[in-house]
Amino acid sequence: MHNFAVVGAGVAGLASAIALARAGHGVTVFEQARQIDEVGAGLQIGPNAVHALRQLDVWSALQSDTVAPDRIVIKDGCSARTLSNIDLTKDFESRFGAPYRVAHRANLIARLRDAAAGHPSIELRTDCPVDGFDADGKQVTVRFSGDEHQLADALIGADGIRSTIRQQLLEDGPPDYTGHAIFRALLPMIDVPAATNKTSVNLWLYPGGHVVHYPVNGGRELNIVAAADSLWVEDGWRTSAERADLISFFPAAAPQLKDLLEAPARWHKWAGTDRKPADSWGSGPITLIGDAAHPSLPYLAQGAAMALEDAVVLGQCCADCTDIAPAFRQFEEARRPRTTRVAKTSKDQGRIYHLRSSAALARNIAMFALPSNISLTRLSWLYGWKPTKTAT
Ligand SMILES: Cc1cc2nc3c(=O)[nH]c(=O)nc-3n(C[C@H](O)[C@H](O)[C@H](O)COP(=O)(O)OP(=O)(O)OC[C@H]3O[C@@H](n4cnc5c(N)ncnc54)[C@H](O)[C@@H]3O)c2cc1C
Repeated sequence: MHNFAVVGAGVAGLASAIALARAGHGVTVFEQARQIDEVGAGLQIGPNAVHALRQLDVWSALQSDTVAPDRIVIKDGCSARTLSNIDLTKDFESRFGAPYRVAHRANLIARLRDAAAGHPSIELRTDCPVDGFDADGKQVTVRFSGDEHQLADALIGADGIRSTIRQQLLEDGPPDYTGHAIFRALLPMIDVPAATNKTSVNLWLYPGGHVVHYPVNGGRELNIVAAADSLWVEDGWRTSAERADLISFFPAAAPQLKDLLEAPARWHKWAGTDRKPADSWGSGPITLIGDAAHPSLPYLAQGAAMALEDAVVLGQCCADCTDIAPAFRQFEEARRPRTTRVAKTSKDQGRIYHLRSSAALARNIAMFALPSNISLTRLSWLYGWKPTKTAT
């Protein structure tokens, strides 16, 4: 049994703590926030994420918080013409061995937090911003502000896209702004315009932008995310946004889409960021996980799923390990190809979703012509992931 320090109690940090504790280790999680609670908006939980949650023994608790969308419907944002319609019910579930669900980010964080807090080998310490670490080859010293510190056998940086641990390890500076402003709102279902599809994951493609919406919180609210090409930049997830600012990016939207974007009184926005894939995520008994290791744009809706998969693979690599450093390198080797592909595909999706004029027309024709079973086959590399003993 080793003693692991995990920096950050987001999806990656909490899930890693659970995976490592289930593998027989002791874990202390240091979170900078005063409370581990609700911020953010909706999350899509594809079958690969469900498999990871089952492996962590969290799915049974989370399942009832999730909503089962019936379809993924892709529409042209100007004409409202349906371009693609993928059934998410029985055939989908039997193909991938797990369902497709949507939930509020708070539901996932709460269930992971409860599972971690209930495990006797996990200590959760909030209001604990980590400043950095020292490593002497035998142990890692986790440093906090002032002279405070804590010893551990190994350190995992699960501290998100602006990771302090990554900075000290890789010194690769802040993440890159991708030129996208991403707006989000939660709308009580009672206020959702009548013409809006309330049962599916909906994706509207628009010149220079796109909009995604789906039900969360037991179907009581609609989560709406709208991305637009924009040079606006700012750190953080909680900046308030003007409705008029958002709507100005979608002047020729179809009436159903326009009505939906006009419905929420309150919007927040963040600036899209990612990083070039790193060649290394760690050294010795130190590694990175989740967004700290491989941040991506949210357009494949896989940020949380990758963090959950990471945690499962980390737990497998560290089960029965006597020496942590090789176990961490094995974890990194197992995860790097897949997370790099997800980050690249997410970026490509953003570009394709935002195409304009004749390129958009060609995209629409190709999407319309593609049978949905072929679309699903093309997504098998993503949704078909299952935990194995050795790799992804
Ligand atoms: C507040 C917030 C809101 C989000 N909202 C959305 C959203 O609406 N849509 C979306 O697609 N993605 C959102 N994300 C990102 C999404 O949750 C992640 O992409 C995904 O879940 C992977 O999670 P992660 O645990 O790797 O990183 P994160 O979710 O970023 O978690 C990192 C954790 O580390 C903590 N931390 C950071 N630095 C330190 C430090 N020095 N010491 C101690 N703790 C530290 C942070 O407080 C945070 O709890 C949000 C993330 C956060 C933190």
